[in-house]
Amino acid sequence: MTTRKEKNLAQALNQQREARIAKLLEAGRIRSAKEIPEDALPAALELQNPQGTWSPPLYYRDISFHCKDCRKHEMWSATQQRWYYEIAKGSLLSQATRCRACRKKHREETLRQRELLRLHREKKAAESKEPGKR
Ligand SMILES: [Zn+2]
Repeated sequence: MTTRKEKNLAQALNQQREARIAKLLEAGRIRSAKEIPEDALPAALELQNPQGTWSPPLYYRDISFHCKDCRKHEMWSATQQRWYYEIAKGSLLSQATRCRACRKKHREETLRQRELLRLHREKKAAESKEPGKR
């Protein structure tokens, strides 16, 4: 049995889908609503980061991929893509390439490298200011 709340949510999602499809049709991006697969989320192009490409994704669909670091099989869901492209304003040229654990590891490693570089530059700057030293 579906509760009233679930029914309302389903209805709201359906309305959002219809509204997004209507906009894509209006913008001439698609010629028929059938171009958006049933299992895909239609994109709101006006919410995407306009920089990057002139052929933005018109819809999001679950993408399965292998993490480039550990080769683990991962899913980049349509909902995550919508969040990444429309809310986080990620580049339309970017796609998920790492699993969640490796993404975290990669981010931490990048921060650590940046910090090391900063310390190295500071040390160099301090040395060049020291009198009598070349
Ligand atoms: Zn991984």
